[in-house]
Order: sequence, then structure tokens, then C-alpha cells
Amino acid sequence: MICLGIEGTAHTVGVGIVDQDCKVMANLTKMIDGSKGGIHPREAANHHAENVVPLMHEAVAKAGIAYDDIGLVAFSQGPGLGPCLRTVATAARALSLSLGVDLVGVNHCVAHLEIGRKVTGCTDPTLLYASGGNTQVIAYAGGRYRVFGETLDVGIGNMLDKFGRSVGLPFPSGPQLERLAREGKELIDLPYSVKGMDVAFSGILTAALQLHKQGKRLEDLCFSLQETCFAMLVEVTERAMAHVEKNEVLLGGGVVQNKRLQEMVRIMVEERGARMFVPPGSLCVDNGAMIAWTGLIMNKSGLKTRLEDSVVNQRFRTDEVDLPWMKA
Ligand code: AMP
Ligand code: MG
Repeated sequence: MICLGIEGTAHTVGVGIVDQDCKVMANLTKMIDGSKGGIHPREAANHHAENVVPLMHEAVAKAGIAYDDIGLVAFSQGPGLGPCLRTVATAARALSLSLGVDLVGVNHCVAHLEIGRKVTGCTDPTLLYASGGNTQVIAYAGGRYRVFGETLDVGIGNMLDKFGRSVGLPFPSGPQLERLAREGKELIDLPYSVKGMDVAFSGILTAALQLHKQGKRLEDLCFSLQETCFAMLVEVTERAMAHVEKNEVLLGGGVVQNKRLQEMVRIMVEERGARMFVPPGSLCVDNGAMIAWTGLIMNKSGLKTRLEDSVVNQRFRTDEVDLPWMKA
């Protein structure tokens, strides 16, 4: 069975085509231009509406298949920005109806976890999911993927992008910030904010921007932002691992492409005698292949989404998802 998956929770619209062995036959993404100031949900939705059909055609061509070869259509049902979600849901409904194949609505966070499990070969990981809009630590417990810690305000990627935009870096700023951080010499004190199992980033952003105005070196600020924020993520991830007694860490989300974050997680897991797993970058960022793959395993367990149940869910919680494939 071949599944076409459409991602569109936030800044990126993506179309992936994947077979039942998780061979990624095509995985194309298009991101909005966020350089002028954040994501405007309506504008992002228009961007996705303009690009989703051309991306589908391109993906089908790239996969070397015909539309009739597609046996399943999956889409990101949430969590995310309402207008974006509705746009890709509409495209997915139309495609599944016109092909006469099942439709599956996929939880975006669960998709990050499932594609990571499949391509890295870990089995029961604690996922550190650090992306633009989301920052969560997720693990399987009591029959569900549960969120053990998360951001109380913005996603870490959004915070890095906001900082970058304010100091004149291109969007998305993460990669550039990582480069500048390598030139950092001084560790500047920034508010380290772990609250129980949760993290918060907006205070750090405010502090870093103030220090920038006061003339602190940009390289030192980038370095200090990374050191402080990543230490927070590693602390919460380690605590979750200890709590659920798991010895695998899976990384997901665009921010985990950061080599310093990977290094810090690696040090932590090595000290615990655990292991770290990192999917390739194209499967870490928001993408259609992860939606397609999760759609396939859901459908294999007998799940499909009726049209009347395909309404999107902006606040779709990770632990709302029933996981029959984990119990099998
Ligand atoms: P996602 O939301 O998962 O698609 O990932 C996009 C986010 O990842 C953006 O906020 C980027 O700034 C961030 N990002 C990408 N590469 C890096 C990097 N090397 N270091 C830090 N953040 C990154
Ligand atoms: Mg994501």
C-alpha cells in the first residue's frame, strides 16, 4: 500500500509518499517566508492553498507513480494553526474522495515520534520534540504517548527565530544562530527556566534582546541562548527518562538538527548508559512523509477517519491518540 500524506500545521506545507515498508518515495516541503515577522495564520493558509496541489503533482511524479497507485490519504489533523489545518484537510478530503480511498487524520506530534522510531530503529524512546511551534518531551506509558514536559509559552524554535529576526538574522534563524554560537566566548547569564517538568522561553528571549540592546556581543548571546535553553531541554528529558525508566532518546523537530543540542543530549545519555537516535534532517522538520507513514500504521490497525470526523483539532493532544499498533 502506498500512502500520500499532507502536512500543514504551521509554517510548512509538505507532501510525502511512503510505502508499507516506509520507503520514502517523495517528501517535498515548502515553507512560508517568515522573515518579515512571524507566522500570520491566514497568510500561511493561503501559502499552503497555493502550494499543496503543485506539491502533490510534483511528489507523484518524483515517486514515479500514478495517482491510482495511492491506496491511502493521510493529513495532519492537529495540533496547529486553524486556517492552515483546514486548508490541508480540505485538500486531503478532496484527494481521498476523488481516488475513492480511505482518509486518516494524524496527530502531528505522534507522527514525529513514529517516523523517528521507524527510521532510527529505536523501540520505546523518550522523544525530545523541539520544533518551531512545539517543545515537548513525550514517552509511551500506560497505553498512550504521554507528554511529560513541555513549553509553557512558545516553542523553542519560535523563540530562536524571534531573537534572530530582532537582531537581523535570516529566517529561519536556527542554523545561522548555531554558526554564530560557535564564535561565542563568554557565557552570559540568562534566566534558566525549568518549572517542574516544564520549560519556558519568553523570559529568556526578553533578557537576550535587552542584553543585545545594551551592546553584548551577538556571538556570545547566541552561544549563551543555546547553552541555557538546551540545558533546560536536556534536564527535562533526563528527568522524564528516569521517571519512565527508559533508555532510548529520540530527537525530533527542526531544532534537533542543532549539533550542540545533539552533543549535549549525547553526553547525558552516555552518562546514563542510554542511547540517542537522530532521524535525518528531512524527517526531523515538519514533512509529509511522517504523516504518510503514521497514516499507514494507523490504517493497518484498522483506523480510518470518516469525513464527518475529519474536522481539524487545533489543540489535538498527544495523549488523546489511541495507539492500537503499540498494543499488538
Ligand atoms: P520545524 O518547526 O520542526 O519544522 O522546525 C523549524 C524550526 O527549527 C525553526 O524554528 C528553525 O529555526 C529551527 N532550526 C532549524 N535548524 C536549526 C539549528 N541548526 N539550530 C537551531 N534551530 C534550528
Ligand atoms: Mg513539527
